[in-house]
Amino acid sequence: MGLVVQKYGGSSVADAASIKRVAQRIVETKKAGNQVVVVVSAMGDTTDELIDLANQVSPLPAPRELDMLLTAGERISMALVAMAVGQLGFEARSFTGSQAGVITDSVHGKARIIDVTPGRIKSAIDEGAIAIVAGFQGVSQNSKDITTLGRGGSDTTAVALAAALEADVCEIYTDVDGVFSADPRIVPSARKLAAISYEEMLEMAASGAKVLHLRCVEYARRFDLPIHVRSSFSNNQGTWVIKERPVGDDMEQAIIAGVAHDRSEAKITVVGVPDRPGVAAAIFQTIADAQINIDMIVQNVSAAATGLTDISFTLPKAEGKDATNALQRVQKEIGFQSLLFDDTIGKVSLVGAGMRSHPGVSATFFAALAEANVNIEMITTSEIRLSVVVREKDLDNAVRSIHTAFGLDDSNNEAVVYGGTGR
Ligand code: ADP
Ligand code: ASP
Ligand code: MG
Repeated sequence: MGLVVQKYGGSSVADAASIKRVAQRIVETKKAGNQVVVVVSAMGDTTDELIDLANQVSPLPAPRELDMLLTAGERISMALVAMAVGQLGFEARSFTGSQAGVITDSVHGKARIIDVTPGRIKSAIDEGAIAIVAGFQGVSQNSKDITTLGRGGSDTTAVALAAALEADVCEIYTDVDGVFSADPRIVPSARKLAAISYEEMLEMAASGAKVLHLRCVEYARRFDLPIHVRSSFSNNQGTWVIKERPVGDDMEQAIIAGVAHDRSEAKITVVGVPDRPGVAAAIFQTIADAQINIDMIVQNVSAAATGLTDISFTLPKAEGKDATNALQRVQKEIGFQSLLFDDTIGKVSLVGAGMRSHPGVSATFFAALAEANVNIEMITTSEIRLSVVVREKDLDNAVRSIHTAFGLDDSNNEAVVYGGTGR
């Protein structure tokens, strides 16, 4: 007998019929002799709809109240899935994140899990019941307020519970057949990866491949817990996220795992910054004090005047207002001339462990962009990733060109997108 944690994403529980279908799959896993813990997301686009609703009431809703509102989405799903499982003759008990022992820090909207104490879940499954847990939420250790883990955070709930319960596997059910060499919504010829390493999946997730939440991959790697990403709409084998990706004979595929893209970032340029030690530190301390994570950074000689530089960096679009407000408050003190905010950028990244040891990857990458007539605004690299910022309108074209240039297209199968709106 094994212990299986299954997570069903929003598109897998979008309506009553989907919930019944998912309940069937849960019961089959139980019948096969496993203990089963299920983590659910909010139905369909519920989270986006709740955010829209909040914004109609208040342009800047209080973070505590927004978290309280958003966690309701997952609670609706958990109760309905538990009812559907009950209808099939099996005992199911639903639990909120707090009841399931997901303890977090108190940063609303992007809380980090600091402990998982799943006593009630353990008792439920030991008594033969199926536990259904609301994803994406926890309770703050200090304030005792309800928190959320950030968009896509139900994946992290699932992996954190799986680690705490020492589950054999964490299955992430979504609306595509696994992790592909690019987002199937943009590249229908993307190929499904049989396996991907934690390291590569971390870079893919950090670069915008939202099929897995970044923190769930960090968790899985830390606990060496295998994740099986697969579709709830088919019985196909999905993608195993594991320590090392076995590579076949194909050279290109040995080097490259895939191409990721991200439309969620914006670029801030601090124009006319005095070119002396300590100024960059002051700028980034201001951003850090506002609890904002930045991604790429570029410093250039300023076009505005000599003795000055421009510093550009990227950050989540949603944090743009907080960042510009914080910088404006210290403009006099730091002595820069102006701020530019640009939210029409996109980021495309190439990820692969083989990039470490293979020359020529950057040459092929930049040639593909040149051929597609895509202009590059910023560049960063890590050992196993190459990322550029381009105009948002050029993003899809850039992704497809790079995917083709590295021979990643699958000419035999078209990637299936079973559901979801891609929102
Ligand atoms: P869920 O609601 O199940 O959590 P998400 O929308 O968060 O689903 O994630 C699944 C989506 O991730 C897919 O529908 C796909 O559009 C997108 N995606 C982006 N990059 C990839 C990739 N490399 N492989 C598979 N899916 C990807
Ligand atoms: N419902 C949340 C979201 O849409 C969490 C999740 O689905 O993982 O971001
Ligand atoms: Mg998701």
